[in-house]
Amino acid sequence: MALRTIREVGESVLTKVCREVTEMNDKWSTLIDDMLDTMYEANGVGLAAPQVGVLRRIVVIDIGDGPYVMINPVILESDGEQTGDEGCLSYPGKVGTVTRPNHVIVKYLNENMEEVTLEAEELLARAVCHELDHLDGHMYMEKVEGGIRDVGLDYYDEDFEEEEV
Ligand code: ZN
Repeated sequence: MALRTIREVGESVLTKVCREVTEMNDKWSTLIDDMLDTMYEANGVGLAAPQVGVLRRIVVIDIGDGPYVMINPVILESDGEQTGDEGCLSYPGKVGTVTRPNHVIVKYLNENMEEVTLEAEELLARAVCHELDHLDGHMYMEKVEGGIRDVGLDYYDEDFEEEEV
């Protein structure tokens, strides 16, 4: 298990457009493992490679039903609308209300470089849209309605969430 440092808003790596991955190798395989470890350690539901300082089109997502590894992901279709709070591991302690598509179809390569087409709804669709934005140097704050709110640094801590429920 290896944790990588999560880059925070203000660092230029979060504003750049990422390059595609053309082949799987030890470097990218290790990066993917480290991204998953880093996401779980931080209690996040998604992490994009630029958030750990790597300008490649790789994201990992886990909304609670197992990990998705998406390489060179592209949204083919989106429809519907959902409005809800969103946060980002690169902007700790903050949330904002963002409207996203409620349903997306995303095409990507998995960690074996096999093509996958996935239909995602609700939270998974939100996570896909949020993480794919990172690959083009965008963050959710650009889309926030009504301002960013301070929720404290323990917002994503599991114990805190259990207390909330
Ligand atoms: Zn983010």
